[in-house]
Amino acid sequence: MADGASDPATPLLPRSASERILTRMDDLRQAEPRHILLRETIESRRDDLIALTQDLIRIPTLNPPGENYRLICEFLEDRLAPRGFECQLVRATGAPGDCEKYPRWNIVARKDGTTPGECVHFNSHTDVVDVGLGWTKDPFGAELSDGKIYGRGACDMKGGLAASIIAVEAFIDTFPDYAGAIEISGTADEESGGYGGVAYLAEQGFFSPQRVQHVIIPEPLHKDRVCLGHRGGWWAEIETFGEIAHGSMPFLGDCAVRHMGAVLEKFEDDLYPAMASRKTDMPVIPEGARSSTMNINSIHGGQQERDEENSALPSHCVPDSCRIVIDRRFLAEENLEDVRSEVRDLLDDLKRDRPKFDYDLRELNHVLPSMTDRDAPVAKIVAQEIENVLGKAAEFVASPGTYDQKHIDRIGRLKNCVAYGPGILEMAHKPDEYIGVDDMIDSAHVMARSLAELLLPKD
Ligand SMILES: [Zn+2]
Repeated sequence: MADGASDPATPLLPRSASERILTRMDDLRQAEPRHILLRETIESRRDDLIALTQDLIRIPTLNPPGENYRLICEFLEDRLAPRGFECQLVRATGAPGDCEKYPRWNIVARKDGTTPGECVHFNSHTDVVDVGLGWTKDPFGAELSDGKIYGRGACDMKGGLAASIIAVEAFIDTFPDYAGAIEISGTADEESGGYGGVAYLAEQGFFSPQRVQHVIIPEPLHKDRVCLGHRGGWWAEIETFGEIAHGSMPFLGDCAVRHMGAVLEKFEDDLYPAMASRKTDMPVIPEGARSSTMNINSIHGGQQERDEENSALPSHCVPDSCRIVIDRRFLAEENLEDVRSEVRDLLDDLKRDRPKFDYDLRELNHVLPSMTDRDAPVAKIVAQEIENVLGKAAEFVASPGTYDQKHIDRIGRLKNCVAYGPGILEMAHKPDEYIGVDDMIDSAHVMARSLAELLLPKD
């Protein structure tokens, strides 16, 4: 250094007021570098982030049937073990869907800091949905073009997984003396309910509040939003009954499809208006999902549907059975028992008023709503860091559909959990799904800064 005056070994002048001001400015600068260092480290790993995302997309973890789960867990182990993570590969033996051909493998990787403290867990599902039609890109090619990486699962949610890995690695390399622990999990089957993934791990104690204190799920809710939870769901099959007879003399039988028509009419007249009038205080997006909703997933009555294998002309019969599957999404303000009895009461009304009407109602599944308090530590800190990185206030939202938070909440009994990740929700499950590289960089920065807030001493 040529300028002797700035060399602390050779103080030439007594401390003047201007020097004191300069020292104070240095102190101020000292408060900043933590975040600047993280930003620089993450920026310098942009190519690594792209390559990691591409590698993940190129492992086709289609669900159903649940392919390549072991392969993607081993890939993550190869990435994280050399960086000091203790990796556990856990098969959800006996969980729905688990079989020898398609075993449900999960990975939980953990790295402890140098002093005791809290554990921050990043959970991503590794499965992707069916490719579907309409693609112009190779769904497993992971092409990079115009700052976007294309492929099935790019947005939902391999981009989020890659961003969280880069955030964690950048944090650990920059501040190796952190307190507590960091975990990264890659879990199976979220797209089919999470029973062979997070639910199984939660049952094994992986999400108990003694082990983990903060959970971030990098689902694609967009880089400026904190997702606090999701609505509930109730799935049921309704069957109406009739009596088979010759189709030319339907008056000799009883048509189960017409009975189902009466059910649907009752839904239109009574149930749909009642559901539409209920509004939740949950910040659900999009707006339309702030009311209760119900989809009729399927309807089938009478003879088997005609398709290529069954192309014979129909015989002439009055249907004696008709079935529908309903998908009822409910609000935090509703309770499951009321949701069930509302439908059952309508069916019982018909049974009373409509001649020969009889039905069966079978519950297929249910999920209770989950909602983290917006003042919960992880929600507050992620929101604060979104504002710090993006320069605007974070939006708190809730998801119309469910995701793995339900298991962390209900089985793990851990309430301090949010979804936060890059990617645009509307891109999920679509053809030409993509993730923006800049969005991944920004959200990795939010994640790394959140780690600094949670695991480092205050500045
Ligand atoms: Zn997802």
